[in-house]
Amino acid sequence: MNPFDFQQPADVDAALAALAAPGARPIAGGTNLLDLMKENVMTPSGLVDINPLAARGLDVIEEDGAGLRLGALARNADTAYHPLVRERYPLLAAAILAGASPQLRNMATNGGNLLQRTRCVYFYDVGTPCNKREPGTGCPAKAGINRQLAILGTSAHCIATHPSDMCVALRALDATVHVRAANGDRTIPFADFHRLPGDTPDVDTTLQPGELVTHITLPDARRFAQRFEYVKVRDRLSYAFALVSVAAALDLAADGTVRAARIALGGVAHKPWRVEEAEELLVGRPASEAAFEQAAERILRGARGHGQNDFKIPLARNAIVHALMAAARKGDQR
Ligand SMILES: Cc1cc2nc3c(=O)[nH]c(=O)nc-3n(C[C@H](O)[C@H](O)[C@H](O)COP(=O)(O)OP(=O)(O)OC[C@H]3O[C@@H](n4cnc5c(N)ncnc54)[C@H](O)[C@@H]3O)c2cc1C
Ligand code: SF4
Repeated sequence: MNPFDFQQPADVDAALAALAAPGARPIAGGTNLLDLMKENVMTPSGLVDINPLAARGLDVIEEDGAGLRLGALARNADTAYHPLVRERYPLLAAAILAGASPQLRNMATNGGNLLQRTRCVYFYDVGTPCNKREPGTGCPAKAGINRQLAILGTSAHCIATHPSDMCVALRALDATVHVRAANGDRTIPFADFHRLPGDTPDVDTTLQPGELVTHITLPDARRFAQRFEYVKVRDRLSYAFALVSVAAALDLAADGTVRAARIALGGVAHKPWRVEEAEELLVGRPASEAAFEQAAERILRGARGHGQNDFKIPLARNAIVHALMAAARKGDQR
């Protein structure tokens, strides 16, 4: 591990000043960043421990008008078990609880979850080329170990996936990311927060160097709090990232027709994948397997495997239909 400077600022302004130093990075729960540093994948010149900012309200979870505010420093476990999240955003609670392990969720923060990096094996192995870790060196995953990797939104330069579960639900629920920089605050719609790799796969998000995520907001989503399902298909039941995950929620009329639908996928792209047009296809139609299959076809239009991960295309199709069927049935059980 490289030597690095370490600071523990007491307030947000001091943290932003510390983050202005070239190569400085915030550290929150440390569950991803420390692993990357130990493997020399990331070599920050300075760590800015932002945990003291919890005392400044960055760990607060509270109502935000009709919606919800999730502090960047709230732990994943505290978020998933918070009464407001359980009652009004159970899809988010389910997605968080499908991730990692209880110990990790106790440490991991909401801000860190958004900014965790891909689990592509080449990215973690500094003995191999990787365009994301070292731009211009190549992408061995395209013809190599790609079982976990993307089938949608890939580029010639990178086929990595974003590994988060929480982010899949945040995308389905139309979250907004709130960011503070030395020159002021700004908001980023969740759809625009994570990037597709394009020709700059080393850039994961639209967050700029020196910016700090302060909180995430969610609009009122009570219409999706009854009929929802988070399906995560993985190789093991814990400590495993999604091969494919689906966050699905339905708002059904009394006659069973779809008033609104939300469908987002994880494990298939460089960012949580959502195709609003597929959701629109369902509106006004009975919540049926045939309709859900059509939505799945639309979501997966253009999907392409790279050998080992070809199976993800039918797997994703089945997972979407399964999640929507389960969501539709769930409301009937209440
Ligand atoms: C064995 C294992 C299994 C896992 N399984 C899953 C899983 O199944 N599903 C899943 O979703 N996740 C999984 N994870 C990942 C885990 O959820 C993330 O490591 C965690 O959410 C990161 O949060 P953190 O607070 O520890 O971030 P850190 O490691 O502290 O930071 C991660 C990144 O975020 C940046 N950062 C942190 N906070 C901020 C902020 N407020 N503003 C700007 N930048 C910030 C840091 O600079 C760093 O680049 C797993 C992790 C491990 C180790
Ligand atoms: S898929 Fe992306 S992260 Fe993996 S080796 Fe290729 S460039 Fe690196």
